[in-house]
Amino acid sequence: SRTLPDRDPDVFEAITAEERRQRDELELIASENYTSRAVMEAVGSVLTNKYAEGLPGRRYYGGCEHVDTVERLAIDRAKTLFGADHANVQPHSGASANMAVYFASLEIGDTVLAMDLAHGGHLTHGMPLNYSGRWYNTIGYGLDRQTERIDYDAIARLAREHKPKLILAGASAYSRIIEFDRIAEVAREVGAVFFVDMAHIAGLVAAGLHPNPVPEADFVTTTTHKTLRGPRGGIVLCKSDWAKKLDSAVFPGLQGGPLEHVIAGKAVCFGEALSDDFKAYCSQVIANARTLGEELTRAGFRLISGGTDNHLILVDVTTKGLTGKIAEAALGRAGITVNKNLIPFDPRKPLDPSGIRLGTPALTTRGMKEDAIRQVASWIVTILDAPDDTPLAARVRGQIAEFSRDYPVPADASSPAVA
Ligand code: PLP
Repeated sequence: SRTLPDRDPDVFEAITAEERRQRDELELIASENYTSRAVMEAVGSVLTNKYAEGLPGRRYYGGCEHVDTVERLAIDRAKTLFGADHANVQPHSGASANMAVYFASLEIGDTVLAMDLAHGGHLTHGMPLNYSGRWYNTIGYGLDRQTERIDYDAIARLAREHKPKLILAGASAYSRIIEFDRIAEVAREVGAVFFVDMAHIAGLVAAGLHPNPVPEADFVTTTTHKTLRGPRGGIVLCKSDWAKKLDSAVFPGLQGGPLEHVIAGKAVCFGEALSDDFKAYCSQVIANARTLGEELTRAGFRLISGGTDNHLILVDVTTKGLTGKIAEAALGRAGITVNKNLIPFDPRKPLDPSGIRLGTPALTTRGMKEDAIRQVASWIVTILDAPDDTPLAARVRGQIAEFSRDYPVPADASSPAVA
């Protein structure tokens, strides 16, 4: 037989177990979400069979008329959604989208000013082991020690001192609005290319709930699978002047054939993100993150920067005598998935840092509102008050599995679609 359970029961069983995990547990990883059934259908389609090197209308392979339609839809919708001059929807991931921008605008060895990983930046923003840190001379900026918000004055000072060829804004663990206009002004003053990686907040930007960097920046990248709620992948938006260089950096610079099935998923995702429903979803994501933060603060936890403007909170758990590693493991035993995370000026190490990062995009997709989030917060507090209590963890895990039935996962075949 040709179906997966018969052809390959090992892979099928692992997928089924993951489906169960996603359904019966609480997903609070800030960079994750549940895509819609429509996105899953596009990604699981016959488009995976097609080679299409090049761009719509200018391919190096025959038979591209239908994938051209799909890729044009993705490009046009991405431009509309974010108000961009130009879009390339082919990068396989956020990391490859970022690499395309570096490749289009820099020479090896050029100086880049970007947010430190330890303060909330991403690996591709100059971490020493990453290509970005190995090939470019990266200067890091970070947060103000008092406010735990981006130190915009330090960015200006460092830019004047180091004269970077490119300034990068964007973060993976920052819970406040990023004032792109202030960084753009610095970039203009020192003649640097201004590049924004909005991977985490792209959905909020699309919904008009976070300032849009597209008018300010030369290049903007995003992943499509976080708050944007699409398939795993990346895109680059840029000003018209950079369009040719960008397209040739992606192909033939860095990639061969684009993943047209994923691009179809991106097109569906952008279509969904253009809807009023998506705007309501993103408002709820932010309201839920705020509620989660308030509840944890009430229980005596310290939130980095004192709160959140977006979809995530960063929590210092050391005030409760815990570490990020202990907290992540204890919550995991109860069916609550979070990730340990460095906090700004963290005296601890990345594998056992002081914090945990929690985000609300996935729970909100399941239909959770403030009341449900208060329940989730109360489980988190209960578990973190007694991290070694395994019977308690098992009890909470059972309660969560039961509670989860009221909040179906969109693409779960056994439950009604919610998104
Ligand atoms: N940029 C930022 C800000 C991110 O947070 C991430 C992923 O976490 C990426 C880029 C990389 O995306 P990917 O994992 O798709 O390579």
